Amino acid sequence: MVSSMGYLDGKSYAAKIAGCARCDRKAFEVASYIERELQVMIGEPSQDGRWIHDEEKFIDGAYRIRCLGCGDEAYASDDCPRCKHTVGLTEALAAPARVAIPKMCPKCKTTSLTVTATVPARVRTGEGQQTAPTQTARFGEPGFHVVSIACEGCDWTSKPPGCALCGH
Ligand SMILES: [Zn+2]
Ligand SMILES: [Zn+2]
Ligand SMILES: [Zn+2]
Repeated sequence: MVSSMGYLDGKSYAAKIAGCARCDRKAFEVASYIERELQVMIGEPSQDGRWIHDEEKFIDGAYRIRCLGCGDEAYASDDCPRCKHTVGLTEALAAPARVAIPKMCPKCKTTSLTVTATVPARVRTGEGQQTAPTQTARFGEPGFHVVSIACEGCDWTSKPPGCALCGH
């Protein structure tokens, strides 16, 4: 899969968050689909997991940039940030995960699996440091999607068919 598929790049993103065109504020809420890795035991998360994206991936997954002063949308796209499928984002946010997490590895029966997920998150940017992402869909909730599952005991892995985010 090509790693950079979003509509924004570093330069256009920096321009969007440089200042609001309507009210002159320089603070924005940015929503982005970014990847998170978590350990799952017998089909349930054993801890909260950790972010595994970098700044480039964050910009790549960005789908909405809203001014914190006036609410004006500096950027918004309903297309899938990963594969650009039309209204793929709207579908991804509303859909439950398309992949069931097995209770154990089908090959070696290990009950501990590593799940890489892509999840919607928000950060606040501008007027100081960008905040840490706040996850807006958790394991089992609509919008939380599985990119891959890997066994911790053997080489078994599984990926959903098609785009991990929107399913197309
Ligand atoms: Zn504004
Ligand atoms: Zn997609
Ligand atoms: Zn295994």
